[in-house]
Amino acid sequence: MSTIVITGGKVITMDPANPAAEAVAVRDGRVLAVGREPEVLAAAGPGAEVVLAGGRSVLPGFVDPHNHLLSTAESLVAVDARYPGVGSARDLVARIAAEAARTPAGQWIRAYGMDDAKFPGGRPTRRQLDEATTDHPVIVYHVSGHQAVVNSAALAWRGIGEDVADPAGGAFVRDEGGRLTGMVLDSAMELLLPVAVDIGCHGPNFHVDLPREQLRSWLEMSAEPYLKAGVTTVCDPQVSRRELEIYRSAWDAGTLPVRTVVMPLSHMLDELTSIGLAGPFGDDRLRFGAMKFYCDGTLLGGTAMFDEPYGDDFTGTLYHRPEELVDLVRRAASAGWQVGVHTQGDRAMGYTLDALKAAVAVSGDDARPRIEHCGHPTPAQVREFASLGVIPVNQPNFLYDSGTDFVRRLGDRRAHRLQPMREELDAGLRPVLSSDSFVSSLRPMETVSNAVRRRTREGGPIGAEQAVTLEEALRAHTVDAAYALRMEDVIGSLAPGKLADVVVLDADVRSLPADELSGVDAWLTMLGGRIAYRSGRAASEV
Ligand SMILES: [Zn+2]
Repeated sequence: MSTIVITGGKVITMDPANPAAEAVAVRDGRVLAVGREPEVLAAAGPGAEVVLAGGRSVLPGFVDPHNHLLSTAESLVAVDARYPGVGSARDLVARIAAEAARTPAGQWIRAYGMDDAKFPGGRPTRRQLDEATTDHPVIVYHVSGHQAVVNSAALAWRGIGEDVADPAGGAFVRDEGGRLTGMVLDSAMELLLPVAVDIGCHGPNFHVDLPREQLRSWLEMSAEPYLKAGVTTVCDPQVSRRELEIYRSAWDAGTLPVRTVVMPLSHMLDELTSIGLAGPFGDDRLRFGAMKFYCDGTLLGGTAMFDEPYGDDFTGTLYHRPEELVDLVRRAASAGWQVGVHTQGDRAMGYTLDALKAAVAVSGDDARPRIEHCGHPTPAQVREFASLGVIPVNQPNFLYDSGTDFVRRLGDRRAHRLQPMREELDAGLRPVLSSDSFVSSLRPMETVSNAVRRRTREGGPIGAEQAVTLEEALRAHTVDAAYALRMEDVIGSLAPGKLADVVVLDADVRSLPADELSGVDAWLTMLGGRIAYRSGRAASEV
């Protein structure tokens, strides 16, 4: 492989021994030299390809430790129902109708990201979706991923009539007259779009059954948006047989878009233990990481578990009884797994902490337990994080997307302490940044911007005192994110010998006003020493 030197940029290395540099040289997939331009050019030798970065910021490729890669790939080819593009039931119907016009009759139409809390007329109904099409079954996923609205064709397709009973862990919402509104909650969604795997009550089941060739080609098509955003490694935080089969087949073909770490869901604990499998295991392109558990539900869906009710009297739901969660997590740690537990509300946080204490007691000081989303830990809980070495996996895009809604539902006191990243840093933790894509944008600079700005889409503050600096945010999306994946020895910083994942952002981000950070994409992205993306050029000619 050829030698490439990137120079003329402002290199932010994330290597404490050598924080800033003028140039980076890579060879054979690894970083060869980082430092002053003359020394780096000398190390590269004659014949190296030189890329002039033109004063742009040069960083290690972004690491997204909570990014549903395959689901994102599926969502990129589905109807985008996110706000503000879809701001009303009427907008939604128009988009579905347009999709129906180009989709063969009988095929499913899937839409993602609906935020009906922002719709002036409230929740759309199946009757409204019926106006879009009666020839296609339609399912529109709520932004939380835990609810959906479907049309009558979808209900008919699955033989679901007015007499349907609510399944355990889910419900079909009915109107005052007792008729199905088309809104389906949690496990009831599985009765609509059949799922490919049985995950029991271990989490929301969005592992829907779609043709494998289709999934594989969608996955490959997602390379461009990921690389354009500067992402070179993701961790898929909820993997079942369905995802692993697709990732493995793409890995085998050399077409996996970015380095991929998988977190198998806890329903597989016994099977994986029975064959002696635990993470980290795999190679630099595809590997097992931590095991994923669910504690409570979601903030947006009203199912997060708080000590005090919120919104319209939501009290929250749990996936496991607290003592069961402790047992599961302890058994996973005993089998060698790092653990990550989805937890939002403060009461749930207490249950998760009990489980993590059990894990750390088994795994020891370097357990690196993760808390996914980590919505509302109390100050006392943040102090407990410090004693256990907990890694809060923050997703500030939600504060931007839904902050106004959170203030309304949770009240000022709690809403402004959501994802208390400043407090976590001050407690000596290494909180990380992630997107939770497909639920939110996969672009790291949006996430970075939202961690720095702590503002809602409407422009109001959302926990301004929890804001972090640009440097801290970049660190949380590179080397500290790599630490959360137990990969900080190979990725996350630019130092000789590390894998050559480099992003040249299309700006000098340190000189940009905070308001402009979110618009920044990659100018060039290098994955494993190969230039995989260049702004303005097709994938075939980079
Ligand atoms: Zn997620």
